[in-house]
Amino acid sequence: MDSAHQTPLQLEAQIRSLAEHATRPPFLDAERRQELHARIRRLLAEQDAVIVAHYYVDGELQQLAEDTGGCVADSLEMASFGNRHSAKTLVVVGVRFMGETAKILNPEKRVLMPDLQAECSLDLGCPADAFIDYCDQHPDRKVVVYANTSAAVKARADWMVTSSNAVAIVEHLHREGEKIIWAPDRHLGHYVKQHTGADMILWQGSCVVHDEFRATELKQLMDQHPDAEVLVHPEAPEAVVALADVVGSTRRMVEAARDSLSDTLIVATDYGLFHKMKQAAPNKTFLVAPTGGTSGTCSMCAHCPWMAMNGLDNLAAALEHGTGEVHVDEDIRRRALIPIQRMLDFSRSHDLVGAATA
Ligand code: SF4
Repeated sequence: MDSAHQTPLQLEAQIRSLAEHATRPPFLDAERRQELHARIRRLLAEQDAVIVAHYYVDGELQQLAEDTGGCVADSLEMASFGNRHSAKTLVVVGVRFMGETAKILNPEKRVLMPDLQAECSLDLGCPADAFIDYCDQHPDRKVVVYANTSAAVKARADWMVTSSNAVAIVEHLHREGEKIIWAPDRHLGHYVKQHTGADMILWQGSCVVHDEFRATELKQLMDQHPDAEVLVHPEAPEAVVALADVVGSTRRMVEAARDSLSDTLIVATDYGLFHKMKQAAPNKTFLVAPTGGTSGTCSMCAHCPWMAMNGLDNLAAALEHGTGEVHVDEDIRRRALIPIQRMLDFSRSHDLVGAATA
């Protein structure tokens, strides 16, 4: 069915089904993993390639990225790192919109991904045709889209933002007297609206992982650990965000884990982030915020099924056979570059990204 004619409920059911049927990389024994590590290192060097990985992928892949001169980061840092690195090939280990963003910023580079079927519910929940219709109905508003969108949706936007800079950018637009269309995450949009007072209308998308965190069970866990600090990503529902000591992007959450005076941290985001958090604060205890229980059921269980599609074997295959190459239509790419570049320039001039001084 044409996405413009799907009801929101049909679209949500389709996204759930895709998430539940996402393929997992096969189990690999130690010998096979060692062999793949060696092959990936050799191929990276031979092909002048570098790995750009997201915090939510498997810890072993994050470690491999760092050990081979790549980066592990949130989507803002990933975009910035890929943009300034000299490698001819970027291997984006994350989900599809991240590969597309890398290609939009670096058309001269080859961008590979371990699996192009690695989606994102926010991207899937904001089909370009329906979104363009929606924007056309509100021509007086600036269009601000989250990084988790397709290239075609970005091509219709005035600004792209990430969770690291969304409040700062919307605050800036609000000061300039702009009214805003926000897409696609409704929870992050609500959070930004509350913190800026901007006039925003919100697309009703959500992240299948963060949407499952539950406030009632989180309160119970907080009662069991009264000294724990609670870190929450703003893609979580409002009632969960309201219980947080720290609300922020993945990068902000790693910094908060490092700086916290508490020995125990309750974390409401994908538990893939624990790899970096444990590096930053090795003596602390990390607990996953509850996603199920009496007020909800857990089907993603704090881990993104699409991030989990990335593995050593499909990463090696991408480098060896050139599979999973990302292509973006040139007209869409040029138009999508404008809101991304605007965001990067703003972030660098406001010191919101590590590349600001690079
Ligand atoms: S965790 Fe959520 S927002 Fe992130 S890629 Fe997965 S579905 Fe998208």
